Amino acid sequence: MDYKIELLLNEFVTHDVRRLVLSRPRGFDFVPGQGVELAIDTPEWREQGRPFTPTSLPGDGVLEFTIKGYPEHHGVTEQLHLLRPGSKLLMSKPFGAIRYQGPGTFIAAGAGITPFMAILRMLAAEGRLDGHRLIFSNKTPADIICGQELHGYLGERSQLLCSRATDCNCRGGRLDFDFLRSNIDDFSQRFYVCGPPPFVNSINAALIELGAVPDGLVFEK
Ligand SMILES: Cc1cc2nc3c(=O)[nH]c(=O)nc-3n(C[C@H](O)[C@H](O)[C@H](O)COP(=O)(O)OP(=O)(O)OC[C@H]3O[C@@H](n4cnc5c(N)ncnc54)[C@H](O)[C@@H]3O)c2cc1C
Repeated sequence: MDYKIELLLNEFVTHDVRRLVLSRPRGFDFVPGQGVELAIDTPEWREQGRPFTPTSLPGDGVLEFTIKGYPEHHGVTEQLHLLRPGSKLLMSKPFGAIRYQGPGTFIAAGAGITPFMAILRMLAAEGRLDGHRLIFSNKTPADIICGQELHGYLGERSQLLCSRATDCNCRGGRLDFDFLRSNIDDFSQRFYVCGPPPFVNSINAALIELGAVPDGLVFEK
């Protein structure tokens, strides 16, 4: 790993997602949407690096990560959620294919929103949100990460879908081929896709079938 960093803050964002604020090492730079590998700097966990995406902006003085925990895995995310300020972590150089390439539609599921949070925060800071749209799928309203913030950026151009809830402000139903066909007019635009691998594969396949061009799809390969 390339950098040693220190945890400054660890707080809940949703019932199973936490916001970790960390010191930003000198010389570390990244492009919004890129990921890094993080490991907890203890003998037991040092070798267990996992990929996460900074949700802060390159110009911020600290680093922010938005991390969903999987306590049932008894892995790194369970430990990250338990860390206290002052804990030390290791971080790699940034990597990844997701970065802003121009106006388009962001399609995310669950914690797959993190690269788009970074990109949308950048676009908001630069006053360039016009021409963008977000479709964000979750299981229930309680699972939505930073829904108010995302709606604040895009208003009616942010569509929140909940697959397991009918009695909420967000739209019920699944984000699948039929949803895309009925809700998107222009498949020649750029699409940014992020979420669990089966989600990314099925959304990409549906978009291509509906007329999107492979070069217009931005996702982690
Ligand atoms: C480029 C990239 C960027 C990412 N950015 C983010 C981000 O910003 N925020 C975020 O929240 N996530 C992000 N992720 C996902 C994140 O990396 C994973 O959630 C994380 O690696 C899980 O680590 P873990 O050690 O807790 O669990 P795992 O590494 O998944 O599992 C640890 C162990 O648990 C067991 N296990 C695995 N699956 C299960 C299961 N279903 N049930 C029970 N046990 C199981 C296995 O034995 C495994 O070895 C990103 C992923 C990538 C590829």
